[in-house]
Amino acid sequence: MVEQLISTNATLFFIPFFLAAVVVEMIAVRVFRAGGDVDVKDDGVSVFLGLMSSVANGAAAVLTITALYWAAQYQLFDIPMTFAMLALCFVLDDLRFYLHHRIAHRVRWVWAMHFVHHSSNRFSLAVALRQPWTKHFSGTMMLKVPLVMLGFDPLMVIFCGAVNAIYQFFLHTQTIGKLPAWFEYIFNTPSHHRVHHGRNPQYLDANYAGTLIIWDRMFGSFAAEEEKVDFGLVSPLTTLNPLRILFTEYLATFRDALQSGITVKQRIAYILAPPGWSHDGSRKSSHDIKREAGLLGDETVTAAAE
Ligand SMILES: [Zn+2]
Ligand SMILES: [Zn+2]
Repeated sequence: MVEQLISTNATLFFIPFFLAAVVVEMIAVRVFRAGGDVDVKDDGVSVFLGLMSSVANGAAAVLTITALYWAAQYQLFDIPMTFAMLALCFVLDDLRFYLHHRIAHRVRWVWAMHFVHHSSNRFSLAVALRQPWTKHFSGTMMLKVPLVMLGFDPLMVIFCGAVNAIYQFFLHTQTIGKLPAWFEYIFNTPSHHRVHHGRNPQYLDANYAGTLIIWDRMFGSFAAEEEKVDFGLVSPLTTLNPLRILFTEYLATFRDALQSGITVKQRIAYILAPPGWSHDGSRKSSHDIKREAGLLGDETVTAAAE
């Protein structure tokens, strides 16, 4: 179990490297006038949330590891630990990440967890570290179970997830413009991920990729960076209080679901429908915002109308 916990938290070993990169980016912006801005307070909160999430998620990883080793009893194939199989595992796990990330933006219970990562109104390497403390409680980590059942060693699955997380750290910067076209076509890049962190209507629900952007191209969620990205949540969060950042969306979800005078179906919808859904149509989901901006066809049924 110790070995598994270490692998799950492999990103921990990169913390000094991540922090050094945050400082290098600040110097690049301040001294060499690279793209982006510096906000020591906002970045400090991101780093604090990152360090604390390492501790909290590190401990809670036991839940996911237990599930993966339970699933290992029921493997369909005995897939060997070779480099080719590691590459295949990485690609399939990257697809798993895409699915997890898409659910995180479309199901409010999971969004309440992921909300933390999008809570800064800026975009810098430190924002990559702004992570929630509850990822092992959202349920979507169980999407790794099918990979283990297929025959991949749990350790291999865990390792691929950690490598993916390290890759994604470097996406969070404005200092890099666009990379060569072939690279932008296949891989997730700072440009693609800036779009993902944008609240511009055309950038909502786009670019869920981890490492490979091909999933977004295949499943219709790709948006290229064109107009300047306005970073942050649709309803911007202005607080720098870490507890508020962590729990604002959970509290709002519970408040909505437990309010008086609504049906059981509506209570469930407040937890499982997309963010912005409301029983009386008084709020806007991302689909509503996009439709109002003329970005969706009339045939699209909005979440609020369902
Ligand atoms: Zn996201
Ligand atoms: Zn991000």
